[in-house]
Amino acid sequence: EGRWFAVRVAPLGTHGLVLVLAEDLTEMRRVEAIRRDFVANVSHELKTPVGALALLAETVAGAADDPDAVRRFTGRMQHESVRLTNLVQDLMTLSRVQGDEPLDALRRVAVDDIIAEAVDRCQIKAEAKDIELVCGGLSGLRVRGDEELLTTALRNLIDNAVAYSPEHTKVAIGTRQADPDHVEVTVTDQGIGIPEVELERIFERFYRVDPARSRQTGGTGLGLAIVKHVTTKHGGEVVVWSKEGSGSTFTLRLPLLRGDGHSTQPPTAPR
Ligand code: ADP
Repeated sequence: EGRWFAVRVAPLGTHGLVLVLAEDLTEMRRVEAIRRDFVANVSHELKTPVGALALLAETVAGAADDPDAVRRFTGRMQHESVRLTNLVQDLMTLSRVQGDEPLDALRRVAVDDIIAEAVDRCQIKAEAKDIELVCGGLSGLRVRGDEELLTTALRNLIDNAVAYSPEHTKVAIGTRQADPDHVEVTVTDQGIGIPEVELERIFERFYRVDPARSRQTGGTGLGLAIVKHVTTKHGGEVVVWSKEGSGSTFTLRLPLLRGDGHSTQPPTAPR
């Protein structure tokens, strides 16, 4: 398409137009390169558990007369299947939120419900590390959005907070009204933190500060990309503060739904 455009523009001899075209092609190449990288990454991420499953199946078949071995290897097969399922699930969620189309069927959603549901889904992993999930702050706030996607975003943040924290620590989930128009939900951990140079990259798909550690915790590498796109789709933003060795705070900032009788602001309050 770009080349066809060039043939049409060239006879006009307008330098300006040629320049615009050159920029356009650069952008197209950039987008194409990102797309190719993503497909390569997805293929690689899928290949790992699929390869492991094939190998494990072969091993189980060869160990049929050793019940202990069969139990051990089928356990690992289950583990790899879960990993594969999580990856496919995250890819589906990401493809839903990273496009340009607006989300449909947005509803009035209670922030308290999102937090309760997200905390509930992380509770087992937290208990396994004796990490206490502590909720606090304002209640009764509402936003307009997709409840499932917002819950997924918050769950990803709490999951990470638990995954990248040592045992016997705390993860705090706080809600506050940042200004008349915004609610902020923060997730604060006492974990390993993120080096400053990595902060701007962690929201990229499949970017991990420590790939080995991420795989070990069962991460797909897509969690924060999902958080970023879900928040943006809701007209909000996600902000991170972190100090290596002492912990991180991720803040989801979302437009507050007003005038539904549940706002903490009086209806006549000046804006
Ligand atoms: P993953 O599945 O690897 O956790 P994410 O997209 O959720 O993928 O996060 C990207 C990377 O950001 C992680 O691999 C990890 O290095 C870093 N990270 C995310 N959350 C935290 C946190 N709370 N504390 C420390 N590092 C974190």
